[in-house]
Amino acid sequence: MIDFDTSAKSLRRGLEGEVIILGDDDYDAARAVWNAMIDRRPKLIARCRGVGDVIAAVKFARKQGLPVSIRGGAHNVAGHAVCDDGVMIDLSLMRSVTVDQAARRADVEGGAIWRDVDSATQPFGLATPGGLISDTGVAGLTLSGGIGWLRAQHGLSIDNLMAADVVTAQGDVVHCSETENPDLLWALRGGGGNFGVVVKFQFALHEVGPEVMFAAPIYPLSAGAEPIRKWRDFLAANSDRVASLCEFSTAAEGEDFPEEFWGERVYTLACVYNGDAQEGEALLQPLSELAPLATDFSGRMNYADVQQLFDPLIPFGDYRCYWKARYLSGLSDDMIDLAISNARSAPSDNTISSLWNFGGATARVATDATAFGDRSMGWMYSLDAIWPNEADDNQNIAWSRDGWNAAEPYAQEGRIYLNFPGHGEDGEDLTRKAFGPNFARLAQIKAKYDPDNVFRFNQNITPEA
Ligand SMILES: Cc1cc2nc3c(=O)[nH]c(=O)nc-3n(C[C@H](O)[C@H](O)[C@H](O)COP(=O)(O)OP(=O)(O)OC[C@H]3O[C@@H](n4cnc5c(N)ncnc54)[C@H](O)[C@@H]3O)c2cc1C
Repeated sequence: MIDFDTSAKSLRRGLEGEVIILGDDDYDAARAVWNAMIDRRPKLIARCRGVGDVIAAVKFARKQGLPVSIRGGAHNVAGHAVCDDGVMIDLSLMRSVTVDQAARRADVEGGAIWRDVDSATQPFGLATPGGLISDTGVAGLTLSGGIGWLRAQHGLSIDNLMAADVVTAQGDVVHCSETENPDLLWALRGGGGNFGVVVKFQFALHEVGPEVMFAAPIYPLSAGAEPIRKWRDFLAANSDRVASLCEFSTAAEGEDFPEEFWGERVYTLACVYNGDAQEGEALLQPLSELAPLATDFSGRMNYADVQQLFDPLIPFGDYRCYWKARYLSGLSDDMIDLAISNARSAPSDNTISSLWNFGGATARVATDATAFGDRSMGWMYSLDAIWPNEADDNQNIAWSRDGWNAAEPYAQEGRIYLNFPGHGEDGEDLTRKAFGPNFARLAQIKAKYDPDNVFRFNQNITPEA
């Protein structure tokens, strides 16, 4: 084997992008990810500018016998984008998006973030389902499902993934679609970053907006469970057309809230109606009349703006985080009471917890149609512990885990959202249960495309022996 230093120099000469190693000025910035708790030190960071760079970086890692982590948007809460003592393949310079308006398709490079996609597609009045925060990576979010504002009509991000180009562990480029390597496309629809470096995603586009109706009445937590019960009952009749979450948080000081609510625990009944905005306004108005409000951010607005509304709440690299989530069979009164009690006891004012609805197009996909698996969940409960100081790590992690455990009686057995994975410490047992009957097929496909488990910094699927 050629020694590391010689080989790294040669990679540096050959790459169109950059090679960064310990001691380089930008090493610390390049290894930083969204969760400030993560402090890992890769042996080499390959900041790629194109498919050729990615192939060279994978081959370098293989020759050096080093494991590989892949950085898309670096939002993974477990910090899977960055590894200790391995090669970090950083796609953050590969963010182009090309729209084919006539075919209603977008080709998206593997390091793009959702803002890139929305700003390329919305000028045509088109969009594909993404997430709720615009600097989240398209890659990580999509590869484990992708839950956003368009799910009622258009499902998860994976339901709109039509094709992809993947650099495999052998350094080959494999194109997959419904007709070419369909096993790989099936696995990418929920199976995570296990199968190689996705350098290009192709998504189906839909007519969206530009104006949509966004409802966000905010109630004080002291309003209790009744407004949430009424919101639940409203969604039972409207889940085909309204995507929503009840988000528990703390009212910030400043002009957004009347002073009497500053520092109070509140909940927002946030909804998007992706149809005629005037019709949506009338439909969602009753959600603003369920009790005395703390404030109300409801209004018609551009879809691209809705996609960036929540960005200031959770900026890149500022906070320490531990997030977990469970799918719920239904949303019982007892589960609502539990969510309220958990919101009240959150140790940090930065913490958010949410009840998300499903149904609609998301539910109309068969369990074996995508690696993601069963779509019978009606709801998801997520506990996003977010706090500023290291001294408070244990208390905040315990809050998230305790709340998650307490929700078990209301949850679908073993079903969790793999994009909210804690710190990944629960290992393959949890991953296996999350995929359910699809796990065995995923392990076979893993064995075909990555038999040596080179791509293992993810919700890992061990290749079938
Ligand atoms: C602030 C915030 C808001 C969020 N909001 C939502 C939301 O609304 N809906 C939702 O569904 N999820 C949401 N998430 C969760 C999010 O989907 C996951 O954190 C996801 O992993 C982020 O993807 P990324 O590309 O930014 O992450 P990264 O940390 O870069 O990567 C995550 C995983 O994907 C792999 N990966 C990355 N790029 C590639 C690639 N090109 N090819 C193959 N594998 C790759 C990585 O190896 C890693 O295992 C949110 C997370 C945060 C922090």
